[in-house]
Amino acid sequence: MVRHLYVHTPFCAKICPYCAFYVHQGGAAAQREFVQALRTEWRRAKEEFPLALDTIYFGGGTPSILSAELFGELALELPDSATWSEFTLEVNPKTVTPEKATAWRAAGVNRISLGAQSFDADLLRILGRQHAPEDIAETCALLRAHGFTNINIDLMFALPSQSEAKWIETLQAALACHPNHISAYALTYEEDTPFFEKLQQGVWKQDESREIAMFTQTRDILSAAGLIDYEISNFAQPGFESRHNLGYWRGEDYLGLGPSACSTIGAQRWRNVANTKSYVSQIAKGEPIREEQEEIDPALKIRERIMFGLRMREGVALEVFSLPEQKRHVHDLQHQGLAQAVDGYLRLTPRGQLVADSIAEMFV
Ligand code: SF4
Repeated sequence: MVRHLYVHTPFCAKICPYCAFYVHQGGAAAQREFVQALRTEWRRAKEEFPLALDTIYFGGGTPSILSAELFGELALELPDSATWSEFTLEVNPKTVTPEKATAWRAAGVNRISLGAQSFDADLLRILGRQHAPEDIAETCALLRAHGFTNINIDLMFALPSQSEAKWIETLQAALACHPNHISAYALTYEEDTPFFEKLQQGVWKQDESREIAMFTQTRDILSAAGLIDYEISNFAQPGFESRHNLGYWRGEDYLGLGPSACSTIGAQRWRNVANTKSYVSQIAKGEPIREEQEEIDPALKIRERIMFGLRMREGVALEVFSLPEQKRHVHDLQHQGLAQAVDGYLRLTPRGQLVADSIAEMFV
């Protein structure tokens, strides 16, 4: 049974210069075509796979860009809302209207992930975002007024020219919105983005020590505010952990719909065509839309389980490390104080979390 569904909406009002997702601009006509194609893909998937959805996640892109009417059409494909436990919608500040918020609630959305990224006006400009800091609190208030009681705020740190003091201000401003969950990721300079070019040209520089300092501040400040770091970059009030993301990190199957969406079901993994025009026309003609299909061997599945699991507070069951080389790494990590075995699970220590990426690479 597939328990997790991801739906990719590729539209954004403007493309941010650091973004490497498959996204583009598009008006009402393009959005309508996309929604029709998505509904067809969804109906076909329901016939092909045994779905017993526990979580639904509409990401992108900016799914909140869709009108209330188009969102309502998409929602017609959803199963009865009594059957799932979590339905997350990614929302950008300034894209919310009372009409849309009402339509989301009516469709059963019960978790909002708000793409705030920063509460600093200058940094929001550098990031190419469309909102101002005050829009974030206003959007949170509007969402709460419409009955949303589970709100995540997405933040980014280690941004160009960002000082540690500015990052602390952003964390405090985010906490003042009383979110139930905060995701805080260091900026990644993705290839083929304007940000990557600036890095290559030497206009901007990465500073590992600043990144580590900001990561430590994040952990300290959010923990003191009662948010538990259940994953290295994700902090939640107890009971507000993202069930959808936990599913990914625990290696559970998921189905992805929409252009560029990835799916992993059993030993199969694939990615849909990353081109909305091709996606729409191929669906209309009944042609395959899956590309980059691969068979996942059990060893890869275990390596992924280890890499994602070590980022989580719960860690990885010691029995998962079955190869001699993996056992040696487990021994070395404990010896160096970077990980510890607790109740049959290997967990990173706070010091190990600072070098989590290098530790993950040991198990590739
Ligand atoms: S709003 Fe989000 S998905 Fe859209 S371009 Fe910006 S970062 Fe990418």
